[in-house]
Amino acid sequence: MSFSIPSDFASELYFINGKRVKGEGEQTFPVYEPRSGAVVGQCPTASPAVVDSVVRAASAAFPEWGTKTELERAAVLHKAATIIRDNLEEIARAEVRCNGKPIYEARVDIASSADTLDYMAGIAPAVLQGDSMDLPGGPLTRFAYTRREPLGVVGCIGAWNYPFQTCMWKVAPALAAGNAVVYKPSPFAPASPVLLGMILTAAGLPAGVYQVVQGEAETGQALCEHPLIRKLSFTGSVATGQKVQQACASKNIKPVTLELGGKSALVIFDDSEVKSAVAAAMLANFLNQGQVCTNATRVFVQRGILEEFTNDLVKEANEKLVMGDPLNDDTRVGANINEGHLNRILGYVESAKSEGGTVLRGGVRAHPAGVENGFYLEPAIISGLNDESKAVREEIFGACCLILPFETEEEVIRRVNNTSFGLAAGVFSKNLARCHRIAAQLEAGTVFCNSYNDTEVNVPFGGFKNSGHGRENCPDTLKAYTQTKAIYVNVQDSLEHCF
Ligand code: NDP
Repeated sequence: MSFSIPSDFASELYFINGKRVKGEGEQTFPVYEPRSGAVVGQCPTASPAVVDSVVRAASAAFPEWGTKTELERAAVLHKAATIIRDNLEEIARAEVRCNGKPIYEARVDIASSADTLDYMAGIAPAVLQGDSMDLPGGPLTRFAYTRREPLGVVGCIGAWNYPFQTCMWKVAPALAAGNAVVYKPSPFAPASPVLLGMILTAAGLPAGVYQVVQGEAETGQALCEHPLIRKLSFTGSVATGQKVQQACASKNIKPVTLELGGKSALVIFDDSEVKSAVAAAMLANFLNQGQVCTNATRVFVQRGILEEFTNDLVKEANEKLVMGDPLNDDTRVGANINEGHLNRILGYVESAKSEGGTVLRGGVRAHPAGVENGFYLEPAIISGLNDESKAVREEIFGACCLILPFETEEEVIRRVNNTSFGLAAGVFSKNLARCHRIAAQLEAGTVFCNSYNDTEVNVPFGGFKNSGHGRENCPDTLKAYTQTKAIYVNVQDSLEHCF
């Protein structure tokens, strides 16, 4: 089990047939380190021809892995989880360099990724068992049984906000179920999935079973359209999700899992303990520089505690949101993914101002000492907007918390659900009957009661409405990487017919 993080992690960003390689392609894209703003490499873009050869290699490697028992596969995946835990600090530091998030968050992401491997490997032998059914004619004369078989080669396309964890949420169940995987990371954060390839190989995964190709939309589309890709799991925006679903139906029929964007809401009733409600608003808006798909930028606060809550939230944000080099232990706000994204968030702050919003803190670019050229934004808290304003309607995907007053339960449920997204929502109240009553009426895949942004490997994760379909992190996820075969058996010597 030999694994160590390469010092030149940006120089070889493909993982093909068990090895880290440079990749080939006439076009390249720059690889950024968001914390410093530096370009740390140039990565070739995989053409459709390269995608084809990588998928074919995975298809050739699949039978050996696909015919192992669940326990044999689990042994490899548990070993990989151990390697991750043994190298957690180094992997977390690489994740920070890849994405710009604070090291304390990266440590949590990497630890939970190891848990995902253990969980999927651990439940696979039980969850993927077949059934047996007696048929008319007597027991063991006519019967049927089912087998859960892997699909073959699975294509996965990831977003950049949780590079290692997003990859793991797809790869762990896909491999535990016996598939081969071709993974395309976001070009904004291409390195972490390559580390995962090195870890899996060190744990004993056969060469070719997990491949990483790099590129932009053309590469992703080629993966979606490839006839040997038997399922596609995608995390990204709604607009790209629509293209992915179309491309996946264009050459053959394949199942698609879509984990898409959100415009979630946190509802705070006036019987809430304000300190905890403030904590929830912090968790709902400022993890990972606000680049979290479940983030509740819409914070609905009942009039009775509006002033107290707003003052306390601004005070807490001023005290606790320590910005700096994300490699420092005490940093709580790191860098955004790139300059373009940072400017997009600043654009929402400007639009909020022009639509009558008051910026209570932040909303400006920052240049922390030592990492002045990185992509830093002072997290914003804004009040005074109405539900029709651009910032309240659209996904911002950045640290931009919007405080919206409300009066009644009925009114707030209607306003929370008045969006085409349906990823997550939160409700804060000491009245638990009210929490459950509201949870049942909210159109969201996850509802947090008196909490926000919890994520556990055994709890289903996914969206309603335009936020996608399919789930990650639960037994159903593992099943979704298999196909069920029904086998009818007749053990009698003769077969009668109806003619
Ligand atoms: P994008 O949709 O822009 O990109 C996602 C991936 O798809 C990238 O690798 C992208 O490459 C690729 N891609 C682009 N065009 C195509 C195409 N035509 N066919 C196939 N692949 C394509 O999303 P972001 O990376 O910007 O991520 C942010 C979004 O992801 C937000 O909306 C966020 O809410 C959502 N998200 C959802 C999560 C969930 O679990 N529900 C979790 C995390 C994020 P390229 O960048 O080159 O275009």
